[in-house]
Amino acid sequence: MEFMSDHASPYFTKIEHIGIAVRSLEEAIPRYERLMGGRVYKREMVEREGVETAFLLCGPNKIELLESRGSDGPIALFLERRGEGMHHVAYAVADIRSEMHRLKQEGFQLLSDEPNPGADGKWVCFIHPRGVSGVLTELCQDRD
Ligand code: ZN
Repeated sequence: MEFMSDHASPYFTKIEHIGIAVRSLEEAIPRYERLMGGRVYKREMVEREGVETAFLLCGPNKIELLESRGSDGPIALFLERRGEGMHHVAYAVADIRSEMHRLKQEGFQLLSDEPNPGADGKWVCFIHPRGVSGVLTELCQDRD
């Protein structure tokens, strides 16, 4: 297939990562290291979400494993309702505030009014899955 660069999103520069909810990082990390043949390069707590994350690299994209630290955070609720599995897709954007504004104008439901500090040095904002074909969607901008 021809690469249609003029058809590409001018706003989302790549899939930054795919988030996967797991019951136990201790079990999921060796499983994903075996799957991908790479190593987790970072583990990090995100206090405001009540999760611990672990990241693996796959070319320009990442896999983010998410384990709940507590029984009532978003990952705990997701695991309770749906079990382990794909939790969200995160897109890289150059200017998260202007993207939040654009998507609000487009009628998407943002889960916060301001970008929040996320894992791995990012500003993040989530979009409600209801308006995105059932997929929780995250915007990420580098926090430098
Ligand atoms: Zn994420």
